[in-house]
Amino acid sequence: MQKPKNLRSLDVKAFAKAQMRLEGETPVVEFERLAEDCVGDVTGQVIWSVEGAVQPDASGKDAIWLHLEAKANVPLTCQRCLHPVPVELLIEQDFRFVADEATAVAEDDESEEDLLVLEDHFDVLALIEDELLMALPLVPMHPTCLSEQAPTSKEEEAILAEAKPNPFAVLASLKTRKH
Ligand SMILES: [Zn+2]
Repeated sequence: MQKPKNLRSLDVKAFAKAQMRLEGETPVVEFERLAEDCVGDVTGQVIWSVEGAVQPDASGKDAIWLHLEAKANVPLTCQRCLHPVPVELLIEQDFRFVADEATAVAEDDESEEDLLVLEDHFDVLALIEDELLMALPLVPMHPTCLSEQAPTSKEEEAILAEAKPNPFAVLASLKTRKH
C-alpha cells in the first residue's frame, strides 16, 4: 500500500493490514469545530500520529485497530477572568473497528478501546477532531484563577446551605410542632 494522501478518505482495512503509521501537523484552524471554541488568533498546530494494526480482539478474533495520538495547544476563554487561556489537549486512544453499528453498541460496554464502524473511506481528521473536542475542559480556567475560585465557591456553598433549609429538618420541625 502506498502512503495514503487523503486522510479524509482512508482505507482503514488496507492501512491496518500494511501496519502503516502516519504522522503530521495540521493547523488548528483546519479543524473548524475546534477552532470555533477558540478565541483570538488560532495559530497553533495539531500534532498527530495514527498507526494501524491487525490484532485479536478480546474473543481472539483478528480485528482492525487504529492507535491515535494527538496534541494541541488551544486558546480558550477563562471562565473566571474571561481572558484567553492556553489549554493543552493530549489524546492517546485505541480504536477497534467492527462490522456495523449494532456490534459496536453490543460490545461497547465490555471494551476498553473505543469501537468504530469499518468504512472504506474513513475520515481520520474528523476522528482526531472528535477526540480533541471531547478532551476540551468543561470549564477552562487559568491555574491562578482556579485557586481564587475555590474559596469563593465554598463560601457560596455555605451561604446557599444556610439560605436553603434542609427539607428533612423542615419536616422534623413540623412533626415536633404537631405534638
Ligand atoms: Zn483567568
